[in-house]
Amino acid sequence: MSNDQSEAEELRASTSLVFVPLKILGLGLVALAIFMVANTQAKLPADDAKHLNPAEYDVAGAMQMAERLAGAVRFETVSYNLDRAPDDTAFKGFQDYLVDTYPAAHTVLEREVVSDYSLMYRWPAAHDADKKPIALTAHMDVVPVPETGLKDWPQPPFAGVIDDDGVLWGRGTLDDKGILISIMEAVERLAESGFQPDRDIYLMFGHDEELGGDRGAAVMAKMLADRGVQLAWLMDEGSAIAAGVIPGVESPVALISLGEKGSVTLKFSATDDGGHSSAPKPYTAASLAAKAGSAQMEHQFPLVLDEHLEAFLMAVAPEQPFLNRFMIANLWATRGLMAEELAKSPTVAAFMHTTTAFTMMKSGVKTNILPQYGEAVVNYRIHPRDTVAGVFARAQEITANDRVTVEKMGEGREASSLSDPEGEGYHAITAAIKAEFGDIPIAPTFTVQGTDARHYDGVADGVYRFMPLVVGPDTLKQIHGTAEHITIEALARQVSFFEVLIRRAAK
Ligand SMILES: [Zn+2]
Repeated sequence: MSNDQSEAEELRASTSLVFVPLKILGLGLVALAIFMVANTQAKLPADDAKHLNPAEYDVAGAMQMAERLAGAVRFETVSYNLDRAPDDTAFKGFQDYLVDTYPAAHTVLEREVVSDYSLMYRWPAAHDADKKPIALTAHMDVVPVPETGLKDWPQPPFAGVIDDDGVLWGRGTLDDKGILISIMEAVERLAESGFQPDRDIYLMFGHDEELGGDRGAAVMAKMLADRGVQLAWLMDEGSAIAAGVIPGVESPVALISLGEKGSVTLKFSATDDGGHSSAPKPYTAASLAAKAGSAQMEHQFPLVLDEHLEAFLMAVAPEQPFLNRFMIANLWATRGLMAEELAKSPTVAAFMHTTTAFTMMKSGVKTNILPQYGEAVVNYRIHPRDTVAGVFARAQEITANDRVTVEKMGEGREASSLSDPEGEGYHAITAAIKAEFGDIPIAPTFTVQGTDARHYDGVADGVYRFMPLVVGPDTLKQIHGTAEHITIEALARQVSFFEVLIRRAAK
């Protein structure tokens, strides 16, 4: 978002505003201005920033939940890399821990162990269901904690320490054991209360999400497909409630991801005879590769203010100053200008197109030797409107040089499909957010990182990514970083969100 403008920028934006309609229409300016102002008031009346409902939770109960999550954190279920087998003791220990800790849940759930460590549970419908099943997913593996980062942890990452301020420290408290345990807590509570779902509910907990999910989520998705199970919707980790991370937006905004970006890395290489640098040709292998890489940066994918970004702008608009509301309410005239303004933030731009990043170069051995080989490496994060093949073809076209070879490094990964922002799952998640967090703005988005959710694309009508967690700038540094922690209050809210979600979706 570009709303954090300095006064000078504001002035410039307001000047452009007057000229944009002028260029478009040329006449009837006064009438037009009146219409646009009226349109702003009608479509986006001013409103104050929204606040989260205060959390209502029982402190003693929340403390017990935190202790159970602390117990889960102590299993070092780390995903290192594909060549290193999972720690059998840690993963099996974690499986048994769930069985022992959630007895009521394990009375109503059917449990299957998949690829040795992943867990697939089914809570069967109480009676013949005509509603399609739903699924909640999370992953039990965590990323390693580098030795060098240890000093930045106030408490050891796998000790499961809850301090006097009601903060539980540990790897996985946010990503993603905190969510997994919250789902189990909610199911345990519902099972104890005698709740009976009117549709099948699947809980799928992968063990290798941090390594791509090929043995966990991918296998579980295939099992569902083989059994002819088509889910109405599924919810996995992904975006959350953003607070103070979007410049100019004071309200916390619940972002529900409809999909995720893909990625591909291309290598641009050139070979040459070499020789002494005193008599070069007009190019070298190094200059050819560098030029090919740079050309990719210069030919960025078009920035599009699409319907999803538009929905986001509409959701956060009411608390914006008049000028911003005016721009948003009149996108029919301001779209181009608005897209340009938004794209000034690389974070926002990432949502507007396939990104291009020239990340690596290799060439040459000595200052006075013409290199025989040059290589540029460019990483693309693929917007759901583009494809791996499309990115590759476009890169070849831009390169347009017979001396340069363009190759894919690895297969690349397609972007997921985008689920329906009007679908049943989206509405169920929205209702649960409002019930637990209050009347805050809610907007669709997609995630720029990979999650297990993409594996379920084919077996669910809607695949959504949302974590019932308030995420500030500080939180983002903890995920895959240092000093990861959760407060008992945040944990209690997560549990309560999942309870509401299940109650409403399967009553
Ligand atoms: Zn995760």
